Amino acid sequence: MIIVMKKGVSSEQIEEVVKHIKIWGAEAHVDRGEVQTVVGVIGDKAEILRKPWTSFEGVEKTLEVSDPFKKASRKFHPSDTVIEVGGAKIGGGATCVIAGPCSVDTEEYVVATAKAVKAAGARALRGGAFKPRTSPYTFQGSGEDGLKILQTAKQETGLPIVTEVMSVDQIDVVYKYADMIQIGARNAQNFNLLKAVGKMNKPVILKNGIATTAKEHLMSAEYVMSEGLKEVILCLRGTRSYETAFRNSLDVALIPYLQELSHLPVIVDSSHSTGVRSYVSAVAYAGMAAGADGLILEVHPNPCEALSDGEQALLPSDFDFLMKKLGDLKAWSQKEWKKTANQNAK
Ligand code: PEP
Ligand code: MN
Repeated sequence: MIIVMKKGVSSEQIEEVVKHIKIWGAEAHVDRGEVQTVVGVIGDKAEILRKPWTSFEGVEKTLEVSDPFKKASRKFHPSDTVIEVGGAKIGGGATCVIAGPCSVDTEEYVVATAKAVKAAGARALRGGAFKPRTSPYTFQGSGEDGLKILQTAKQETGLPIVTEVMSVDQIDVVYKYADMIQIGARNAQNFNLLKAVGKMNKPVILKNGIATTAKEHLMSAEYVMSEGLKEVILCLRGTRSYETAFRNSLDVALIPYLQELSHLPVIVDSSHSTGVRSYVSAVAYAGMAAGADGLILEVHPNPCEALSDGEQALLPSDFDFLMKKLGDLKAWSQKEWKKTANQNAK
């Protein structure tokens, strides 16, 4: 349920409502928007609904929320969540591009990539040290040695680090080095892992699963947020489809759709969405044009020697070109598109 407060409500009136939500055994989430403040309530629905909310001063009305996701829902939190990492902001109109190799390999390559992507405008460095590979016989990641290489690249460039955690037992080591945590497609519904990262205090980039729906993606975010973490970024990396030309297929309509349902930032991973270098930039551009809050992309200075996903890695020069093109792009937000669509329908 949500409690919509009247315009001009005072802090004391909001506090009074929050106090009673807690007394009646539920959780309160206040979103103070520029125009309106709403208080999301999570708890025994029937019991809470029976309370005389409209007799509280400052309360305009109550609304029932039927979605199974609450903390991730825009109904609970109408204003956009803005996440800050290492000086970069993502969400609420602030866009952020994260780039780097699929797997951490040599220090020379990782540092060179970090310098190149930073010069082109990336605000964070990605690189996997623990790799979820389809085959157990392929490179599995360099573990803590890889994390140390990422740390060196951070020292050299100042870029914050995004890296994947694959299991609960890797949390201690990964959190020692990472600024932002990636949960990969294969773990998108590993609920124990989602709850474990939700108890920690670093932003999480949560990819959709190999075959999850948008609402299942949001339920995964809800798992993370149910443990207290507010900083979750939804990442679209495509899903398995009947098309065999690409590794996966990305539906760009999911960007405004998720932004409508949720206040969380939505970014696009066009590397895994296509799996083919020559299509990566087109899909990245399409994603930003559709209003994505950012990108996460694989870049390698010598893709032939990359230890994983070389075939989808952009060269630093391709990345630089894409970033320049994105600079010229006037992306419309989901709100703007929706407004014109509604006006045209009148
Ligand atoms: C990756 O980012 O390198 C990766 C393995 O991605 P995904 O989980 O989307 O396949
Ligand atoms: Mn990869």
